[in-house]
Amino acid sequence: SKSQGRDQAQCYSSSLNIESFKKFTLSNDLRKALDKNEFFLQYMPRVDTNTTEILGAEALIRWNHPDWGLVSPTDFIPIAEETGLIVPIGEWVLREACKQNKQWQDMGLPPITVSVNFSVQQLLKQNILQSIDQIVEESGISPDRLEIEITESSFISNEKEVIQLLVELKKRKIKVSLDDFGTGYSSLYLLKRLALDTIKIDKSFVEEILTDPVNKSIIECILNLAKALHINVVTEGVETAEQYAFLKEKKCNEIQGYYFSRPIDPEEFMHLLKNKLMI
Ligand code: C2E
Ligand code: CA
Ligand code: CA
Ligand code: CA
Repeated sequence: SKSQGRDQAQCYSSSLNIESFKKFTLSNDLRKALDKNEFFLQYMPRVDTNTTEILGAEALIRWNHPDWGLVSPTDFIPIAEETGLIVPIGEWVLREACKQNKQWQDMGLPPITVSVNFSVQQLLKQNILQSIDQIVEESGISPDRLEIEITESSFISNEKEVIQLLVELKKRKIKVSLDDFGTGYSSLYLLKRLALDTIKIDKSFVEEILTDPVNKSIIECILNLAKALHINVVTEGVETAEQYAFLKEKKCNEIQGYYFSRPIDPEEFMHLLKNKLMI
């Protein structure tokens, strides 16, 4: 009926307002979230494909918003990047992840590498190296127990600066991985020049690995290329036994995905690490 239509239209326009209101308040609240201790980290294991041993973990930020509850990083990281807040937030993540890794080490757990995501705004920050050095030193971890994950898009229009930064990280034995590989600015020239430790194959290629021959070929191709360049490969988004079996057969070094574990709280990760083997 007509009146129903009007109600629906009203409802629709107010939900649009709620969306923009939410974005507006989120960016305001983001400024205070660090001081109010609303962020925490979860860890997602990186597993040796052959042995199912835990080799490392990716630190993933979580925001517990007082009104909205858990807000996904895919919603607030872009806002943090637009507003520049990603710099202090990213520093907090790095400090927290290094401290946590040191704690696990001091408990006598098997040594692992913890990887931390870096947005391009962080990489281009003045004195970024001093800030990384200081955080690593304060934490007491050895630099080769830290990995920094960057994406291909970081190189767009900042290629020289970012390449130079990676050279400096390498001198310090801090590891570097190229995240979401295959989704952006994948240049073979860059792969060769960067001396990366690891490529992380994006989860979009894994979804239809067994039914889509193109995705299957892309993964095989990346694995061969990485082998030739002596770069370690992690495949992300592995959810099923079939996907795992395929990647094992193709000799992908490491797996990260729900098949082994979702991102979990530090306490729960510690228990996994005690057992060391995922299967
Ligand atoms: P990412 O760096 O590609 O991280 C992997 C994302 O894929 C995580 O989502 C993880 O939970 C998800 N994932 C991994 N395996 C599977 C799987 O098998 N199935 C499914 N469905 N998902 C899987 P999350 O934690 O929501 O993070 C989303 C993105 O937010 C990250 O993507 C990263 O770009 C960004 N992010 C998270 N933490 C940070 C941070 O501390 N700093 C920055 N700059 N970005 C971050
Ligand atoms: Ca990542
Ligand atoms: Ca990724
Ligand atoms: Ca990503």
